Amino acid sequence: MLDKFKKISLGNWILIGMILGFIVGLILNFWVKDPFIKDIVLIDNVFYIGGTVFIKLMKMLVVPLVFCSIVVGVASISDIRKIGKIGGTTILIYLLTTALAITIALLIAGIIKPGEGLNMAGLAQANLTTAQSMADTVINIIPDNPINSLASGDMLPVIIFGVLIGIILAKLREETKTVNKLFEEGNTIMMEMTSIVMKFAPIGVFCLMAKTFAGLGFEGLMPLLKYIGCVLLGLAIQAFIVYPSIMVILTRLNPIKFFKRFISVMFFAFSSSTSNATIPLNMEKLSEMGVSRDVSSFTIPLGATINMDGTAIMQGCAVMFAAQAYGIDLGTSALITVVFTAVMASVGTAGVPSVGLITLNMVFNSVGLPVDAIGIIMGIDHLLDMFRTAVNVTGDAICTLIVSFRSKALDLDVFNGKKEIKKEEIDYFGN
Ligand code: ASP
Repeated sequence: MLDKFKKISLGNWILIGMILGFIVGLILNFWVKDPFIKDIVLIDNVFYIGGTVFIKLMKMLVVPLVFCSIVVGVASISDIRKIGKIGGTTILIYLLTTALAITIALLIAGIIKPGEGLNMAGLAQANLTTAQSMADTVINIIPDNPINSLASGDMLPVIIFGVLIGIILAKLREETKTVNKLFEEGNTIMMEMTSIVMKFAPIGVFCLMAKTFAGLGFEGLMPLLKYIGCVLLGLAIQAFIVYPSIMVILTRLNPIKFFKRFISVMFFAFSSSTSNATIPLNMEKLSEMGVSRDVSSFTIPLGATINMDGTAIMQGCAVMFAAQAYGIDLGTSALITVVFTAVMASVGTAGVPSVGLITLNMVFNSVGLPVDAIGIIMGIDHLLDMFRTAVNVTGDAICTLIVSFRSKALDLDVFNGKKEIKKEEIDYFGN
């Protein structure tokens, strides 16, 4: 019996926590009338404490995790110098496709309005920073005092400072080996801490769901379904409209030929929810399409580290969902901040399951949205993580294809199926 429980994955436990929280919330909303049990004992104490402790644990991770992973992510771009022009083009395409992805997500969620009707305004305090003018937003991304920004969790200056340190580490390489290692190990520690905190997610999600639905009843269900719909629509647009269009415009290659061969990589990413683990398969499939290893051995691992278009789509939808749920109108400067922070969050999101949810905290923080809403969407995030990871790896492969085409490192006969590449010709280990 116990063995059976042990076999249930964390993602499924979180889903179970969410469903149970939903049911318990509804039961409280409809059938429990005793205010002492319902409000004082359960909603205001048990669920409140359980939910808030979990949210605080997540918040605790954000600054060190984001800081270390941005430094490590940017420092890993050091190989650019080896690859020369390819490096610059790759990074540019990675950043642009992510910015496009998040913009699409903001538009979709702005039209569908998934958070409307959730009415969470009374459940947590928003601390909106939209009052800032555009000029202030730009000026304030440069930290007066980086330690202060780190201490107060002021995300934009923290990101800028992290990017600068990453660039310098990449530049000084040999001279700063120790500090580089320090950040890499710091990153490993924070990833480990994240996975420990995530073990409490089923309980935290249960409490947050129960608390929300005890107050809202069935009204709360529709927004969640709409949110799932928005994310899936955004991912589908990115994968099947944006990428093929970019590919046709920049290379005139046939996207159907690409997808026919690439679909197995998408399935693998879907079932494993990790871009990192998909790196070898992604490179292998691209080699079979005629892409030179010289390019893919650089662009694919880099993409798995810094390019997360699917994650950015989820984050854009989540921001709009929360803003609508709290009745907050995000102004233009806040939306621009969201685009910028989500692109940086994509750099800072490691290619492993669920990390996009942690870096989502930083996007929320950047515009002062209450992170409690993350607890609500967390229950269904496992499913969305599978879909967005498939899009994340597709973005890496499309960019690689474009870069290899433009740098004449793509065998067009192989891509067009006129010539087959022999298995022995594929250098599986990038040597
Ligand atoms: N699971 C995603 C990936 O590995 C990252 C995330 O969005 O959580 O690409």
